[in-house]
Amino acid sequence: MALLSSRIFFTSHRPLSVSAARLADKMMADPIEHATGKEKRELLAQLAGNDDPYHSKAIKRMSTSSKANPNPVPSAFDSRIVGCICEEDATHIKWMWVYKGTPTRCACGHWFQLVEKPPL
Ligand SMILES: [Zn+2]
Repeated sequence: MALLSSRIFFTSHRPLSVSAARLADKMMADPIEHATGKEKRELLAQLAGNDDPYHSKAIKRMSTSSKANPNPVPSAFDSRIVGCICEEDATHIKWMWVYKGTPTRCACGHWFQLVEKPPL
């Protein structure tokens, strides 16, 4: 009878108190270890110092541009949509497609040309 009661006591104290103490010692896993595919490549690029791996940050337009000296538009594809804020106080953005190999002129007179960048 004494043997039976000690087994019940041991199993009834095991579950939560032990696991809670172990969780307090562990840290959260590093996101890079769980990431795969594009997310992992993006995290690795950020570790390497590239904070804009998809070239999605806004680029300040040159003050003057011409067909011979257009604003560069980085892209890993054959075309990209570009938004031009034509005037400083403009309340809208002029959107246009820029295609590979062909400089594109905005309605305000600025020129844009696609520049190939390797995909991530
Ligand atoms: Zn414009």
